[in-house]
Amino acid sequence: MSDQPVALYRLGDQGPAVRSIRALLMATGDLARPANAATDLYDEQVVRAVRAFQQRRGLIVDGVLGPHTHIALDGAHWKLGDRMLSHTPGHMLQGDDVAELQERLLSLGFSPDRVDGIFGTNTEQAVRRFQGAVGLAVDGSVGPGTLRAFADLTRSVSGGSPHTLREQELVRRSGHRLLGRIVVLDPGHGGDDKGTLAHGLTESEVTLDLARRIEGRLSAIGVTVLFTRSATTSPDDLLRATMANQAGADIMLSLHCDSADQSEASGVATFFWGLDRFGAWSAVGEHLANLIQREIVSRTGLADCRAHPRGWQLLQRTQMPTVRIEAGYLTHEQDAARLAEPHFLDTLAEAIVIALQRMYLGEDDTNATGVLRLDDLSAYNAQQQTSTA
Ligand SMILES: [Zn+2]
Repeated sequence: MSDQPVALYRLGDQGPAVRSIRALLMATGDLARPANAATDLYDEQVVRAVRAFQQRRGLIVDGVLGPHTHIALDGAHWKLGDRMLSHTPGHMLQGDDVAELQERLLSLGFSPDRVDGIFGTNTEQAVRRFQGAVGLAVDGSVGPGTLRAFADLTRSVSGGSPHTLREQELVRRSGHRLLGRIVVLDPGHGGDDKGTLAHGLTESEVTLDLARRIEGRLSAIGVTVLFTRSATTSPDDLLRATMANQAGADIMLSLHCDSADQSEASGVATFFWGLDRFGAWSAVGEHLANLIQREIVSRTGLADCRAHPRGWQLLQRTQMPTVRIEAGYLTHEQDAARLAEPHFLDTLAEAIVIALQRMYLGEDDTNATGVLRLDDLSAYNAQQQTSTA
């Protein structure tokens, strides 16, 4: 990635390089400024700061400053507009400002190929296409004129870009509780749009019933729950996304049941925002989708149709992590028979709430599932509440 080899620094190292590492960690807020004279020692404090930075960035958390961490740290203090950006063969610019530029290009439909924070030829080509499209001088470099055009256009295309890092940061800052969070539940279809009709069931009714069961459980642990529709309305996906954005939701869950021409298709699948070909996706959405998938499969025994990235409008336009759940096939005889049972919908609702709580608890994925119960969670929340009061 970088044209010069980057050395490895770790606990006990000392020298001018460590001094500059310390300065970068202070700039990101991970390392406190020393009270006395600046030191050039890689001490325990630096290890902790590096670990905090790595955790936030989704890097391997080892407290050692290897090449990947070094590059990420080096680019972390740049915000779009801080400096002129252009492609320099032999020494490619890297940083958070380049990633932000790439996200904007992507959200406006000028694919830089991937959001990697490196200003390479693909990014330059995307900038050129953008400049041509909006009538700017086509030079492939990002200065004040191009930035102004971005600002004007991004306002009209609110949301929808894969702010992966920012998303993770939001969850990190939100602490480990669901208490006080806003969750938007989006029962699929509604009104005249009934969704799938099979085996005597109506998709729009099943999804609303399931949503109400989730609502009851979330409300009990202090979560504010909002619905995108009632029994008689059916807003389109863009409106549903806008409602969630305007509510400032932390999470959106879209509930559907699947259907297929072949009656043997069965099982549960989840979907999060992501476009394979751009290498961009919602990391938090993926995490939550996997948690929900795992909880539902282990608690219900529904076939595991896995979690998948999709570019669907609802997933793309929401500014918070959004997961769409296809909970069983109404066209499958056994799936449908189970979805007709109120206690089965309760189990589904419980699985989804537990998955949410697991995400906010930040639990290790290797923890055995099926241990947490709603009673434990209420107790945990009550305990958290008293300890922060
Ligand atoms: Zn549906």
